[in-house]
Amino acid sequence: MNYNKKTIYDVDVKGKKVLLRCDFNVPQDKETGEITSDKRIVAAIPTIKYLLENGAAVISCSHLGKPKGEWKTKLTLAPVAKRLSQLLGQEVIFASDIIGEDAQAKAAALQPGQIMLLENLRFDIREEKNGADFAKALADMADIFVSDAFGTVHRAHASTAGVAAYLPAYSGLLVNKELSIMGKALDDPKRPFVAVLGGAKVSDKINVINNLLEKADTIIIGGGMAYTFKKAQGYEIGTSLLEADRIDYAKEMIEKAAAKGVKFLLPVDNLCAAEFSADAEPVLVEGNIPENLMGMDIGPKTVELFSEAVKGAGTIVWNGPMGVFEFDKFAGGTKAMAKALAESGAVTIVGGGDSAAAVEKLGFADKITHISTGGGASLEFLEGKELPGVACLLDK
Ligand code: AMP
Repeated sequence: MNYNKKTIYDVDVKGKKVLLRCDFNVPQDKETGEITSDKRIVAAIPTIKYLLENGAAVISCSHLGKPKGEWKTKLTLAPVAKRLSQLLGQEVIFASDIIGEDAQAKAAALQPGQIMLLENLRFDIREEKNGADFAKALADMADIFVSDAFGTVHRAHASTAGVAAYLPAYSGLLVNKELSIMGKALDDPKRPFVAVLGGAKVSDKINVINNLLEKADTIIIGGGMAYTFKKAQGYEIGTSLLEADRIDYAKEMIEKAAAKGVKFLLPVDNLCAAEFSADAEPVLVEGNIPENLMGMDIGPKTVELFSEAVKGAGTIVWNGPMGVFEFDKFAGGTKAMAKALAESGAVTIVGGGDSAAAVEKLGFADKITHISTGGGASLEFLEGKELPGVACLLDK
């Protein structure tokens, strides 16, 4: 996969109409519809400002929620237009449809330095189905396409990939940052390259482990997925999470790592509980876990082992919590990993989702080189998969 893509700096945008795919999928209050975090809108500002200041007319677009092709008034992007306008300090013209008369007329009248926002792309079923007529109608309003919604680049939708069949396609600043930092980590990492993987399921991360076995020097496995590996090593794991149909795979991975000289680290002690509950009393167990207990977090010896392994790393990628961090009593392992990354001095990359939330909540975000904005997209990136929303951009 080539991550070296043309950006908005590689094209003269003056006088051009730019179709800009943003990630305005903001969280909202269920009752009032009020935007509860405008982080994603704020994140889009640098690309938008660059385009406007350089004489482009910007037709921005995004999805919001999961309307699945239905026109759901609760999921209108109108509140986003309002917030974006406040942040930019200029009017954001809002179209009441996507490719309909209103959008077309407003796009045609749009002047350099002006910005408009189309209605929620997923109100039309053809967005997610990558309908060619829908993609073409979107493209027909503009001269060039800019992709700046990293969270959806792993989807081949009309606005993320389809439009590139009709328009020259460039990355915006957010997508470019993701590609340059994560792409470099995978293609040409500063070594040693350490991958820290956690979360609930082995099955979700099989392709990530496979791909990273080819690239990393050390792979650290924590979280619920570690117990299938411990079982594969012959340990008793009590009532811990187990994917019985993945035990053979886990064995294979351990053997493959050994054959390749990749260090493969698993927990050596665990904080266990008799039940899956926030109030459960933590019990520290080394070695075999008794049959009435389940592993909920990594123990102190494991924290030391894992922290030691990230010390001196050149590059670290982290995806997935080390334990059930939603419960305070079992959040210690995840916190300790966040701290170890923050203090490592390495190029540190945290995949979206839970690990990103943990790093932010714990106040380590500003000590991490890059926190990816796309959960699913960053996982597929680590799998080495071709991302349709990246593949469609012009190569440098
Ligand atoms: P994922 O979405 O695969 O990254 O998994 C995140 C989820 O894994 C979180 O909700 C954690 O609570 C859960 N998790 C982490 N460790 C464990 C564990 N030891 N047992 C059960 N669930 C876990």
